[in-house]
Amino acid sequence: MRFAEQFDVIVIGGGHAGTEAALAAARMGSSTLLLTHNIETLGQMSCNPAIGGIGKGHLVKEVDALGGIMARAIDKGGIQFRTLNASKGPAVRATRAQADRALYKAAVREALENQPNLKIFQQAADDLIIENDRVVGVKTQMGLDFSAKTVVLTTGTFLGGVIHIGMQNQSGGRAGDPPSIALADRLRELPFRVDRLKTGTPPRIDAKSINFEGLEAQPGDYPTPVFSFTGSRQDHPKQIDCWITHTNNQTHDVIRSGLDRSPMYSGNIEGIGPRYCPSIEDKIMRFADKSSHQIFIEPEGLNTHEVYPNGISTSLPFDVQLAFVRSIKGFENAFITRPGYAIEYDFFDPRDLKRSLETKFINGLFFAGQINGTTGYEEAAAQGLLAGLNASLQAQEKEAWSPRRDEAYMGVLVDDLITSGTKEPYRMFTSRAEYRLLLREDNADARLTETGRKLGLVDDHRWSVFSDKMEAIAAENTRLNKSFVQAGSSQAKALDQFIEKPLSREARLMDLLKRPELDYQKLMSVEGVGPGVKDEQVALQVEVQAKYAGYISRQQDEINRSLRYENAPLPVDLDYSDINGLSAEVMQKLQDSRPETVGQASRISGVTPAAISLMLVYLKKRN
Ligand code: FAD
Repeated sequence: MRFAEQFDVIVIGGGHAGTEAALAAARMGSSTLLLTHNIETLGQMSCNPAIGGIGKGHLVKEVDALGGIMARAIDKGGIQFRTLNASKGPAVRATRAQADRALYKAAVREALENQPNLKIFQQAADDLIIENDRVVGVKTQMGLDFSAKTVVLTTGTFLGGVIHIGMQNQSGGRAGDPPSIALADRLRELPFRVDRLKTGTPPRIDAKSINFEGLEAQPGDYPTPVFSFTGSRQDHPKQIDCWITHTNNQTHDVIRSGLDRSPMYSGNIEGIGPRYCPSIEDKIMRFADKSSHQIFIEPEGLNTHEVYPNGISTSLPFDVQLAFVRSIKGFENAFITRPGYAIEYDFFDPRDLKRSLETKFINGLFFAGQINGTTGYEEAAAQGLLAGLNASLQAQEKEAWSPRRDEAYMGVLVDDLITSGTKEPYRMFTSRAEYRLLLREDNADARLTETGRKLGLVDDHRWSVFSDKMEAIAAENTRLNKSFVQAGSSQAKALDQFIEKPLSREARLMDLLKRPELDYQKLMSVEGVGPGVKDEQVALQVEVQAKYAGYISRQQDEINRSLRYENAPLPVDLDYSDINGLSAEVMQKLQDSRPETVGQASRISGVTPAAISLMLVYLKKRN
């Protein structure tokens, strides 16, 4: 049967990529269908109940700056907020929040159900309808055909998913959910490069069976950081503590004794796991000299006793899991509510994607999230938003958009994936970005909201909050540039408590703010200089822009220089063997990855500056 309504965009999968994709497409005015296995699992966190962290928090703020839901949902569902790296420079400061799973999911579902232009339908997608290398619709498990101009695939860990606990394994998309087998088989018939990855999760524990006495409490930050640029502390529910415990030698002995029945060490799992989120058995093998590993005991919510012991992800057999868990301080009588497990799944080589996240082989088909070899909710959300945006732009016959590496971590993420591919689950770190000082969490709105507004992603409310903030920053910058403190004045005397030598001549407020001994709060505490702006975010921008002005303008110069060829397009049909002087190796690499721009080509490993020069000369002659 064919469903009568024609859609502009169909999104398959209601995880973190799919929900952002569907919301973005619908915000852009495209008629959108979100097709997912189960409406109850929309926005479900498959693994740890937390959003953000270093690099990941940056992505969440960027998604928010473009009108996405993740930051607003965690503001409503966050039960502990922290600023990581708070004592370090603004580039690497990052927000992280512990989530009440149920509240987070409810916030995502509420946004989806209230989004104009968006319909949600519960069914597995079993097949893609393809005509002349273009996707034109989707066939569901019960044989219902939906037609659309574009399709976004965000199936997470579900494609050919196999769950492992010890030597036992079974098909599954994640614990409690079915795998996607028919669709995986269909995708394997298409010309994409496909491989397997794996990831894992720890056993969950009933907090009533934990002895918290003697364990270290870890409170959140107060005042609580806020994730969304349009959010406020009033959005946050009750805040609670996490706890810390550790593994010990006995734990490690138990784990070693069970390794012969570990699916990873016995060869049952072929896929490569996340390097930066290793299982406890992996940590014990890789860091054999360490006698203890830290475990964060993270509550799963305000109305449940289940906790998530972060740091002991495992796929060991259940008897070994129980024994090693009970060897840990506080967990002596622990009751495991859900066993830990590993999951193996299909992912597709992201080098087969364009920067819009459209596949190179099937027109109108976009991939986003874990299907592209990434790991993490935030990485998925960022790709989802971009894929939904570009699917919508294509349906509206408009040009694709994707940020550059110097504009957003989203740009770094997409460029890394499509240029270099990945052999292991890819996660974001601040170290992946060349222009860290420009790509801060705190200025994600300044970097992206205006573009988001032009593209149609940003609604009137966000636009007005943003415009007011930018105006307030500009006004305060002007005031600080125009106002002075006179030497010997009462204000200069008040400043003496902060600065080494008294002022010998008049000083501009902006120059005072640039001094390392002073910050915005101190400066504004001086009567006649302050009180300054009330909004903490405005104050932060004024301070960061003042203190890092020199570094920021140097990075900007560097970017301007590299932009000269960054965006120079490379024709898709370019035959690299026509370029004189390229080595066979470089030629092969370029033929394989078919970069879209000279900038992208320059980041392929082995492509030297000399090769880029040859390419530029060739392009000049050809044009
Ligand atoms: P998902 O969140 O998996 O969502 C996929 C959605 O697609 C689901 O709603 C599903 O029902 C739907 N779907 C799938 N196939 C179909 C179909 N054919 N038709 C209709 N709907 C379909 N991340 C980390 O950062 N660190 C970790 O340590 C970590 N450990 C993990 C451990 C486990 C066991 C699992 C399962 C995941 C783990 N993750 C971890 C990954 C994290 O959950 C994902 O990165 C993130 O959820 C990916 O988002 P996504 O939207 O791509 O996919």
